[in-house]
Amino acid sequence: MGDHRYAILGDIHSNWPALEAVMTDAFAQNVTQFLCVGDVVGYNAEPVRCLETIMELGCVTVMGNHDQYCSSSAPLDDFHPLAAEVVRWTRNQLNDQHLTFLRDLKFVRRVAGFTLVHSTLDMPEKWGYVFDALEADANFNYQSTALCFHGHTHVPVVFERQKTVHRMHFSRLQLQLGTRYFINVGSVGQPRDGDPRSAYAVFDPQLKTVELRRVPYDVEATQAGIRNAGLPERLARRLVFGK
Ligand code: ZN
Repeated sequence: MGDHRYAILGDIHSNWPALEAVMTDAFAQNVTQFLCVGDVVGYNAEPVRCLETIMELGCVTVMGNHDQYCSSSAPLDDFHPLAAEVVRWTRNQLNDQHLTFLRDLKFVRRVAGFTLVHSTLDMPEKWGYVFDALEADANFNYQSTALCFHGHTHVPVVFERQKTVHRMHFSRLQLQLGTRYFINVGSVGQPRDGDPRSAYAVFDPQLKTVELRRVPYDVEATQAGIRNAGLPERLARRLVFGK
């Protein structure tokens, strides 16, 4: 693990003002390595800028459902119509280099003794949502590292398993030996826990801490981008409420 301090970003969703604010905060937190639990693209209007930044950062990234569908021509039957409209728009923004980057993403990555996945380790390619302890329990049966970070629900929360699985909100978590953690880092680009600020996590292996950071960003700039691109107004409005 060396002396790295990790920033774990998830569900950036083409929101450049949010990603920029989170990067600034992460550098101020002395982060040395960026990681991403998927969904770099979708929903908002700056997929190229977000993707190229992730590539330049050397950010280890796993595949999200939007990453998968935006880089394929697969039918969008499983998508909410609003999301599907942006997937179709995003497909037209990406060049071959962007498409190759997205298509080559793995569903699960192991980094320095911990794990990254977008949705859940039991069937990562099925894009199941983990909202409660029961759903997290299925994940833990497949989690071979003490620590695994994920996203997908856009709700930051920690599931910890000792004898049973507990679901907890967190701001600063002190990791305990013998406990397993499945940690949702929340969403950079479209938070859904009622707090419109960007969310991401800082993991310090030396201190054995995971800190949830909340970062305000220029929501109006992101909304202007959505409107200028002709994307659905509801996607601009929801950012104000964090829903
Ligand atoms: Zn997402």
